[in-house]
Amino acid sequence: MLTEPLSALTARTLQNCGASAALDVAGGMAVRSPVTGETVATLAPHTAAGAGAAIDTAVAAFKTWRLVPAPRRGELVRLFGEELRRARQDLGRMVSIEAGKSPSEGLGEVQEMIDICDFAVGLSRQLYGLTIATERPGHRMMETWHPLGVVGIISAFNFPCAPWCWNAALALVCGDPVLWKPSEKTPLTALAVQAVFDRAVARFGDAPEGLSQVLIGGPDLGEALTDSTSVALVSATGSTRMGRIVGPKVAARFGRCILELGGNNAGIVCPSADMDMALRAIAFGAMGTAGQRCTTMRRLFVHESVYDRLVPALVTAYGSVSVGNPLSSGALVGPLIDKAAFVGMGAALDDAKALGGTVHGGARQPVEGDAAYYVKPALVEMPEQAGPVLRETFAPILYVMKYSDFDAVLDAHNAVGGGLSSSIFTTDLREMETFLSARGSDCGIANVNIGTSGAEIGGAFGGEKETGGGRESGSDAWRAYMRRATNTINYSRELPLAQGVSFDI
Ligand code: NAD
Repeated sequence: MLTEPLSALTARTLQNCGASAALDVAGGMAVRSPVTGETVATLAPHTAAGAGAAIDTAVAAFKTWRLVPAPRRGELVRLFGEELRRARQDLGRMVSIEAGKSPSEGLGEVQEMIDICDFAVGLSRQLYGLTIATERPGHRMMETWHPLGVVGIISAFNFPCAPWCWNAALALVCGDPVLWKPSEKTPLTALAVQAVFDRAVARFGDAPEGLSQVLIGGPDLGEALTDSTSVALVSATGSTRMGRIVGPKVAARFGRCILELGGNNAGIVCPSADMDMALRAIAFGAMGTAGQRCTTMRRLFVHESVYDRLVPALVTAYGSVSVGNPLSSGALVGPLIDKAAFVGMGAALDDAKALGGTVHGGARQPVEGDAAYYVKPALVEMPEQAGPVLRETFAPILYVMKYSDFDAVLDAHNAVGGGLSSSIFTTDLREMETFLSARGSDCGIANVNIGTSGAEIGGAFGGEKETGGGRESGSDAWRAYMRRATNTINYSRELPLAQGVSFDI
């Protein structure tokens, strides 16, 4: 039970984080919580002129920040990680209020920010370039990595802060200021995170002004970042529809882009799979976060020999999963973000039925009144992969199909636009390795005996095809935030030319 109105809880949570934005601006941008459907704040959005000024401030910050030694830049990110640890409960609650996540998933998102800060601190002493063998005597060749410039970060509603931090923590140690355009559905989390960042800046002492800034508003503010030649890199997370607009715009001005777009992620359950493990992994992957993760499992191929064992057990799990207010009920499944998501889910289920699908679940639940949209997750048994199965519907729908031939199921697995995440459940070494091979999954993430969602920050995150091809977070994703120079130094008294070319004057 909540003991105070949601708007009061929101204001208190923001205040705890140190955010001072006016939350009741007349005629401002309404911020709605999916938990109850009520408006919890109205914010003053940025104007185009305000966005331009923020970009100018970031450009000025770059001129200073790029000269600060990388390990010292890492110190700021270390302090930010400390502040995030202190603000963990409040930030996690803010994520639950704005995105409707369970407390555990809200806190998990904050933990991801802390983890990437730790990673970035280590990275700040490891921005290595290569020394490369040269064909010319008395020469040395090497590559150096320099800060790139202002990084614009556009983020989606369903992960209101972690993907920002995957970008920001790396960009900051790489020497780049960041400008954040959060989803218009979740701007408060951004304001809270920015306030926590400002605490780290105050402790750090001599950071330039405007190293990290937030732009409040809709797609037009995102466009201010994509269109500005002063923004060296645009990292955009959201729908494929958005990526189709952002990608060509940034490319047209030869800017750099990281696109993290929609997925249509699948699992394959093979005859030798550990069925109990598969059941639990599929349940989390498909129903967790009410199906509103880019990595949510949306398609499931089950071998005909185990179909009658696994699918009825999944239907039972779908029937019994708890759906409720994430702030007060301890339910595993929270609300859809808004009415449009609910309508989209209904339309997809209707399309599936028209193609012969059998729908289990999917009904709206009477939780928190008419303005909130809670649904039972839907499992749909499909005769074949067609219609809505081929596209991402951002809601908890799992399409289940039977397969008999392993080669054919690999083809079916890859026959969709999205290329983000995938998984196979098997204890057969040949199936496992084939799935991970060039012949197997064509996704950026390919898992064995775990679900499609729940990635760790240490690996590079992202996907192929309509997912956009970007990589963020761990591994060598940092290179996207820096520019590479190849340097050749002649320490001899001769001037030999490469490829044996002669040019004697
Ligand atoms: P969305 O595309 O509606 O919005 C995402 C962001 O893009 C918002 O900040 C929005 O204001 C901005 N935007 C929209 N149009 C723009 C334009 N023309 N120019 C510049 N900015 C623009 O997505 P959403 O509904 O918030 O999020 C859900 C989608 O995001 C799903 O498709 C999901 O799969 C995807 N997603 C992908 C990842 C990933 O890492 N691959 C992570 C989270 C979400």
